[in-house]
Amino acid sequence: MTKTSYTKLVEVYEKISNTSSRLEKRDIISDFLKEIKETDPEITYDITLLLQGKIFPPWSDKEMGISTQLIIKSLSKLLGEKTKTIEDKLATVGDMGEITQELVKNNKQVTFFKVPLTVTKVISNLRKTESITGSNSQNKKLNFILELYTSATPLEAKYITRTITEKLRIGVGEGTLVDAIAQAYNMDKEIIDKAYMLSNDLGEVAIRAQESEQSVKNLTITPGKPIKPMLAQLSPGIKESINEMEHVICETKYDGIRVQIHHYDGKTKIFTRRLENVTNALPEVVEYIEEALPNKDFIVEGEVIATKDNKPISFQYILQRVKRKYDIEKMREKIPLKVFLFDVLFFDKPIAEKPLGERRKLLNEIVTPSNNVELSTMKIVTPLNYIEAEELFTWSIDAGHEGIMFKDITSPYSPGKRGKNMLKYKPVRETLDCVITGGTYGKGKRAKFFGSYLLSLYDEKTGDYKTLVHAATGMDDEMLASLTERMEKLVITRAEQQVTFKPEVILEVAYSEIVESNEYETGYSLRFPAIKGLRDDIGLDQVDTISKLQQMIELQNN
Ligand code: AMP
Repeated sequence: MTKTSYTKLVEVYEKISNTSSRLEKRDIISDFLKEIKETDPEITYDITLLLQGKIFPPWSDKEMGISTQLIIKSLSKLLGEKTKTIEDKLATVGDMGEITQELVKNNKQVTFFKVPLTVTKVISNLRKTESITGSNSQNKKLNFILELYTSATPLEAKYITRTITEKLRIGVGEGTLVDAIAQAYNMDKEIIDKAYMLSNDLGEVAIRAQESEQSVKNLTITPGKPIKPMLAQLSPGIKESINEMEHVICETKYDGIRVQIHHYDGKTKIFTRRLENVTNALPEVVEYIEEALPNKDFIVEGEVIATKDNKPISFQYILQRVKRKYDIEKMREKIPLKVFLFDVLFFDKPIAEKPLGERRKLLNEIVTPSNNVELSTMKIVTPLNYIEAEELFTWSIDAGHEGIMFKDITSPYSPGKRGKNMLKYKPVRETLDCVITGGTYGKGKRAKFFGSYLLSLYDEKTGDYKTLVHAATGMDDEMLASLTERMEKLVITRAEQQVTFKPEVILEVAYSEIVESNEYETGYSLRFPAIKGLRDDIGLDQVDTISKLQQMIELQNN
């Protein structure tokens, strides 16, 4: 057995960065994993993490807690360079990794003897920084990184920095790693993918794949390790969704935050949908859950909402609770919480792969509801009694909730997947006030009119407008004609059917979701945009901004 040098891994990083082909990246990683299996199999777990630019698995709430400032300080100490000089470089170059490489390369202080770094040395020094807290913690952390930089080659130093800053920049996503693991150990991609979904730990998947296929298949959901939540698609409409799924659990959609609650070894932990551990911020949720469920190992999922006089209040309040680090007892009184449970993924044994109907039945059996913990209100519907879903929708809205969900009663829990087995249906659509900056003439009967408008938001940073979406639906014939007449006077340029306008007219546009897009200057676009009307009542200074867009994205993702 050899101890794998860090240089070996760095060479792999470089090879991966030098190709843009996903398949080549996969092959490079797969070859490396095969080699490690022969030469140093004990580091497969760490290698898999380091290839993701991580030193702890995604389910862990451990963090290095090393700021860029501390890296700058340690480089300055090591190389006798002023911190200001390094900061200035960072402002122009932008990548702390490149700067580290350059600084170490130009280092005039001769080191006579360098101990070659091993992969294990690098990851264990970085991990040690996690447990350091207290008064002198930054200095102690600094010593661990200094030790690494002292022995590092310039290229190694670059990747040490990139690992610390969690910006590896080698262009490897989870999908490529899953493929590479499957290829390296000669297994079906589906087997690897499923094991990853259930464990949320590619390192663990790789070690087991190194052992045997059976070992990978045995890997499953475990209390204490949060998994990515199953996500919902938009429902096109109540009737359509029920017709498609046929046998549906229809539930109230609550306007709070999604929580995955793990109970094991007598302890309870609460994770958000981004797998952040928020147990300390929500102490009463821990109490409520421990009262409502037996003291066994379990994972349940639900929505926590903020209440006033036992009625739901805006989502903003629960956000305040989750973000809060101090005065939690005070907040607990100010913003009371309530939990609605809707799924169980583990109870004494893993059950995430069982059909939803079975999981929900179990949830009914194990939860003793109270004023603080309830099961989500639900009805089982089919195309024959879809009216009951409409009734539930009306009831949910009247009770101050957000809408309803449709879930296929036969479906297993698919972590991290946004599929057709879970749909969300909301009545009100969000809107943005955008300025019209472009337009396209319609076709046929509408050829004289602008049939579609290019809408933009104000960018406070640059002081100009950035494009967001083309909106065409929502205008009646009268609006089509009158708006065209008005816009013709504002045309700046024409190219065939397309025109640009002087920004002056503001439209309110409703949408169902903000999505990433490289077609528009904001980097985003709107799904199902519909023009709601003119906003002649507001001025250009009130057009919605890029930061408003960012806020809406944050709300949408919570
Ligand atoms: P999305 O986040 O886009 O997948 O939309 C679904 C979100 O609705 C979930 O993440 C939950 O936070 C929330 N939600 C509210 N009530 C329910 C429910 N009964 N079942 C599932 N999700 C719910």
